[in-house]
Amino acid sequence: MKNAKKNDSGSCCLGIESSADDFGVGIATFDGEILANKSDSYIPAEGGIHPREAARHHAEVADKVLSEALAKAGVKPRELSVIAFSQGPGLGPSLRTGATVARALVSYLDLPLVGVNHSVAHIEIGKLKTGARDPVTLYASGGNTMVTAFESGRYRVFGETLDIALGNCLDVFAREAGLKHRKGVPLGAAVEQLAAKGKKLVTLPYVVKGMDLSLSGLLTAATAALQKGNCTLEDVCYSLQEHAFSMVTEVTERALAHTEKKEVLLTGGVAANKRLQSMLAIIAQEHDAKFNVVPLEFATDNGAMIAWTGVLAFRYGLVTALDESFVKLRWRVDKVDVPWIQ
Ligand code: AMP
Ligand code: MG
Repeated sequence: MKNAKKNDSGSCCLGIESSADDFGVGIATFDGEILANKSDSYIPAEGGIHPREAARHHAEVADKVLSEALAKAGVKPRELSVIAFSQGPGLGPSLRTGATVARALVSYLDLPLVGVNHSVAHIEIGKLKTGARDPVTLYASGGNTMVTAFESGRYRVFGETLDIALGNCLDVFAREAGLKHRKGVPLGAAVEQLAAKGKKLVTLPYVVKGMDLSLSGLLTAATAALQKGNCTLEDVCYSLQEHAFSMVTEVTERALAHTEKKEVLLTGGVAANKRLQSMLAIIAQEHDAKFNVVPLEFATDNGAMIAWTGVLAFRYGLVTALDESFVKLRWRVDKVDVPWIQ
C-alpha cells in the first residue's frame, strides 16, 4: 500500500466483501455514516462452502447487490470517491471475484482502490457501531477465532484457535446432527436455539494451551456423544456451547487482565450468540471494563465494514496500486499497519 495524494473531492467509499460465503456491498461516508449494507449469501446444497461454487454465486449476484446498495444509498457511481475490497484472508476463488469487481469499478470510474484486511474490518466496524475506542476484541466467525488488541501500530493477536474456527465448529457439528442451513437462520443460530433447551452438561474436551485454544477435539467428542445416543441433541448443543464459549472467554479474560484495557468488543458472525455475549459481559464486569457487541447487521461478513475501513485507510492517505491488488489468502491481522489509530 502506498501513500496517496489526499483526495477530498468526494465523500463516500463503496466496499466489497467476498471472502467466503457472503457477497456484500456497503457504502460509508467519510464521517462514518453507513448509507447502505446489502448482501447475498451462498448456501451450499449440502456440506460446507465449496470455494468455486461460492465464487460463481458471487459473480452471479455482484451486479444485483451493487445496484441495490447504490439505490439504497441514493448515490450514483460517479459520486463515489474510492472503492475498497476485502483483500484477505479468505477463500481464494471468493476473494478473487470481489477483487475483480473492485478493479473493474476503479478502472471504469477512474477511482482509487484500497485493499482492506477482512479481520481489521470486523474490528473497525465493531468500534464504529458501538463507540468502543481501544478494546480487547474477540473476533469469532466461520473462518476466524482470535483475541486481539491494539498495541504499537497494529492489532496484536493475544490468542487464537490452533485449528478450526468457533463458527466452523458449530456449523460442522450442526451438519453432523442433520440440521439444515436455512435463509436467515445460520447453523450456529440453530445450535443456539437447541442449546437453550439443554439441561444436562455432558463433559467434553476443554483445550486451552497458553493463550491459544483448540476446538477440533471438542467437535469430534460432541459428535461422538450425539451418535452414542445416550444424550439429547439439546444437551449436546448446550454442552458444546458451554465448553467452546468458556474457552474463548477464558482467553479473552486473560488478555484483558494482561493489557488492562477498559473495553471488550465481540465481533464476527458468532457475536450474534446471546450465551457467548452473556459470558463475556460477566468477565468484562469483573475487570471494570465496558462490554460491547457489534449489532447483528454488522456481525456477519458485510460490505459496510470494508467500506468503513477503506475510509479510515484512504483518509490517512493509503491506496493500493492495481498491480499490488492480488488477494492474500492468509493475511494475518497482525501483519497490517493501522496508522489511523493514534
Ligand atoms: P461470518 O463468518 O462472520 O460471516 O459468520 C458466520 C458464522 O457465524 C457461521 O459459522 C454461523 O454459524 C455463525 N453464527 C451466526 N449466528 C450465530 C449464532 N446465533 N450463534 C452462533 N453462531 C452463529
Ligand atoms: Mg460468512
